[in-house]
Amino acid sequence: MLPYRVGTGYDIHRLEENRDLIIGGIKIPYEKGLQGHSDADVLIHAIIDALLGALSLQDIGTLFPDTDEKYKGADSTMLLEQVCNIIINKGYKIGNIDSNIIAQAPKMMPHIPAMKKRLAEVMNIDIDQISVKAKTNEKMDAVGEKRAIEANATVLLYKE
Ligand code: ZN
Repeated sequence: MLPYRVGTGYDIHRLEENRDLIIGGIKIPYEKGLQGHSDADVLIHAIIDALLGALSLQDIGTLFPDTDEKYKGADSTMLLEQVCNIIINKGYKIGNIDSNIIAQAPKMMPHIPAMKKRLAEVMNIDIDQISVKAKTNEKMDAVGEKRAIEANATVLLYKE
């Protein structure tokens, strides 16, 4: 068996009033925030699912069920840290992560350096091991109509 494992992750959350907008562990000033049981950090959730998928483990919903009060309003960086520990315990390390945030508004670009810095800190990797890209949805569908924000991620894990 090759010492490499790849994984992909996807997530989407609705934009609602009276919620903070937290993406990539960063609070972004905006009139709405993402709806969810936890802090609804769509980017971190996609990364968690990619990490779990790479090792054929279960997904974020199974590991941190939204029926569990413990995860109500949970800080997703804490969940990411736990998942990184699972990976380390299985003998794997993160090679690199590539990801996309798809949002019509607000603009993600100015926040990407802070997100990368925060995510690298949480996962204990170098900033150049994580890529975060931003796109709009050309005003099409729920994301394009500013009703939701979507994210996806691909990861490469390796065993030394
Ligand atoms: Zn989510």
